[in-house]
Amino acid sequence: METITTIADLRERLAAHRRAGRSIGFVPTMGYLHQGHLTLLGRAKAENAVTVVSIFVNPLQFGANEDLAKYPRDLERDSALLEEAGVDFLFAPGVTDMYPQPMQTVVDVPKLGSELEGAARPGHFAGVATVVTKLFNIVQPDAAYFGEKDYQQVAIIRRMVDDLAQPVRIVAVPTVREADGLACSSRNVYLTPAERTAAVIVPRALAEAARLIRSGIADTTRLEQMIAGFIRAEPLATPEVVALRHPETLAEIDTVVGPVLLLLFVRIGQTRLLDNRVIDIASENGMEAA
Ligand code: AMP
Repeated sequence: METITTIADLRERLAAHRRAGRSIGFVPTMGYLHQGHLTLLGRAKAENAVTVVSIFVNPLQFGANEDLAKYPRDLERDSALLEEAGVDFLFAPGVTDMYPQPMQTVVDVPKLGSELEGAARPGHFAGVATVVTKLFNIVQPDAAYFGEKDYQQVAIIRRMVDDLAQPVRIVAVPTVREADGLACSSRNVYLTPAERTAAVIVPRALAEAARLIRSGIADTTRLEQMIAGFIRAEPLATPEVVALRHPETLAEIDTVVGPVLLLLFVRIGQTRLLDNRVIDIASENGMEAA
């Protein structure tokens, strides 16, 4: 594995591979790697001749009161994991490598980006769309791999790629979970032992929602209230977003009639955990229309 920190060096090293017709698979991350990241990477490796992983804690996507300074970082450990996993290039630029001058250009997907997690984190998704566009321009990957754990992020990136005709295939990879169901996340390290135990309420709420829908409750307002109540029964948990939405458009829906996305943003102590599940009762029962 080669570790590269500047845009010019990475461009130069990848150009030869591109000229040789080798496909490039790209996994953008903020580091502090876990099994979720490694699963994306496994997929990228299986589908491409050359793999690039980026590690960059992007200041543009953090709000003023968010955890930019304390976001966990361990480049040495991450490098060892990526080396062992057989990555070809680790791109780990510093902030001044990525942003040598203050950015004036912003890529924004304002409608999709201002609701749900975006309502709780104003400006976050513009920061994501901007850095991902810049990374795509640097790496010029054939395919880029993203986790379904950040469901809204995938929807926004797909829309951005469509709207701007960015020449990259977006691949979404199912959420990887710990043994008790909690989605792997770099931020799980913030949880105290008591909070870590309490955090299992999040995947349990996803299962509870499926149970409620299966039981025949279809009114989304009622379901959202019941799911929020289920989460609040855990004293350390505060539900910030409990939303049942259309799985493709993320539009609000009144009544569950087909597959539905449940998106959760739950605060446990000081830590906000994100999770989601597409609940599709018909296909769970093997009853899809022929
Ligand atoms: P991050 O380093 O948190 O920005 O995540 C980098 C990529 O890994 C994003 O595409 C995330 O959606 C994805 N990811 C994070 N956690 C998981 C997980 N538990 N399962 C699958 N993908 C994940």
